[in-house]
Amino acid sequence: MGNEPRHVAVIGGGITGLSAAYYLKKAMAEKGEAVKVTLIEKSGSFGGRIHTLKKDGFVIEKGPDSFLARKPAMIELTKELGLEDQLTGTNPNAKKTYILHGNRLHRMPPGLVLGIPTEIGPFMKTGLLSFAGKARAALDLLLPKRQSTDDESLGAFLERRLGKEVLTQIAEPLLAGIYAGDTYALSVKATFPQFHALEQKHRSLILGMTRNRKQGGEESKTLPEVAKNTVFLTFKEGLQTIVNGLVDALDDVHFMKDTEVSAIHKLKSKDDSGRSYELVYGGGLTERIDGAIIALPAYAIAPLLNEVPAAKELMTIDYASVANVILAFNANDMVRELDGSGLLAPRSENRFITACTWTSSKWLHTAPKGKVLLRCYVGRSGDERWLKMSEAEMIQAVRRDLQELLGITAEPLFTEITKMPRSMPQYPVEHLKLVQRVRSGLAEQMPGIHVTGAAFHGVGLPDCIRQGKETALALVSQLTV
Ligand code: FAD
Repeated sequence: MGNEPRHVAVIGGGITGLSAAYYLKKAMAEKGEAVKVTLIEKSGSFGGRIHTLKKDGFVIEKGPDSFLARKPAMIELTKELGLEDQLTGTNPNAKKTYILHGNRLHRMPPGLVLGIPTEIGPFMKTGLLSFAGKARAALDLLLPKRQSTDDESLGAFLERRLGKEVLTQIAEPLLAGIYAGDTYALSVKATFPQFHALEQKHRSLILGMTRNRKQGGEESKTLPEVAKNTVFLTFKEGLQTIVNGLVDALDDVHFMKDTEVSAIHKLKSKDDSGRSYELVYGGGLTERIDGAIIALPAYAIAPLLNEVPAAKELMTIDYASVANVILAFNANDMVRELDGSGLLAPRSENRFITACTWTSSKWLHTAPKGKVLLRCYVGRSGDERWLKMSEAEMIQAVRRDLQELLGITAEPLFTEITKMPRSMPQYPVEHLKLVQRVRSGLAEQMPGIHVTGAAFHGVGLPDCIRQGKETALALVSQLTV
């Protein structure tokens, strides 16, 4: 074996790939080991889904717009990069969220945690549910826990515990908003493992969530000040801040943009430098590597790993297509006060938009004084009408909803559309077993080649960072035995 440093390819320059490269370099340095890292990205920029646009004094997120404060991976990385002072929470005066029901906006009852009621008073008063719907939800307090610990769909789980009304009117628009999915097609264990764990531990979801909420209050005392009174955080200059921070910190990584990886092959025997794999670029060039972290959507990973039969299963993970339409207005064109963070439109309301964030009310740094920024979400699994529409048609359809729901008739100052086909992985029931099979197949046939990111254990930005880190540490322990 030669004395050259180990060579690792990180494939995919989204938040997962960048975080993996960062933690890989860090862990190798801590072990006093040299490593050469090449980070390969198909598009012309880094950050993957993250894309902040600054325009006319607005801070506009064309992809994700924030992250959950209670999941530590993002805050930890932010601190490591020295960017903590850039964090900002939501406007404390915009805590209300509205849900559309029967064409009217109803305030979401306070005390709901991920759609689960933890305060009985406001829940019993909400106009979102019938009396029978509320009584059915209360049955959760009495129902026994399910004996089988097998996976089931998120929809089946919530319907079983809280009834169909809570599922369709409250939980589905809230939770499926995160996955843009059909709750009956999503795995409860892979999307919201805490629900399954709550039932196993506390039997009742309502009781368990109420206890957890009290405990969470205690745990939040350890969070940094900025994260204490907010569910979500972002950066004052947009999420691009963390991407730029990572790229700057990776100054000795070899970055390759506009470059696609098309395959990874196992060499029959190690080459003179002891390298075991050959990486094939889209143009046909090849490079020898010791290991790789592949942080791509599932459907982009499978074709790279033709030699691993289990990897074909990744093609069975569906992806929903979504778009967001951002509209800027003069504040005095607003008809109703935007006194909250926005509205959710359940499937049953048959709207073009699935939600509208009142961005400039929720995040005070996003619009100049006297201006309003709205962000409308379009598309969910099973509703891909918009894919065939032109941008002008989409804007028209969004504006029709805004007129009917919020009374806005004014011409927007400008609009920005981001279309993201096949962007939201839909973890199927038994997803975790599928992931296990793929990883075992890889470990057996291509040790040192790892797959990670939003396709596997959580789509949120902190989940992606956590997965990038865990994968990097697993590879480091293989490289340094
Ligand atoms: P990606 O960001 O998809 O990165 C993968 C990268 O790989 C891409 O840059 C791609 O160009 C590149 N690539 C693909 N094929 C190849 C190849 N063959 N060779 C080389 N490179 C390749 N999460 C939150 O926490 N908060 C939010 O507010 C939020 N909102 C969201 C809104 C939308 C519309 C979407 C789609 C997602 C949202 N998410 C949110 C989820 C989160 O943004 C994503 O899960 C996360 O950004 C995925 O990161 P990733 O690095 O795993 O993948």
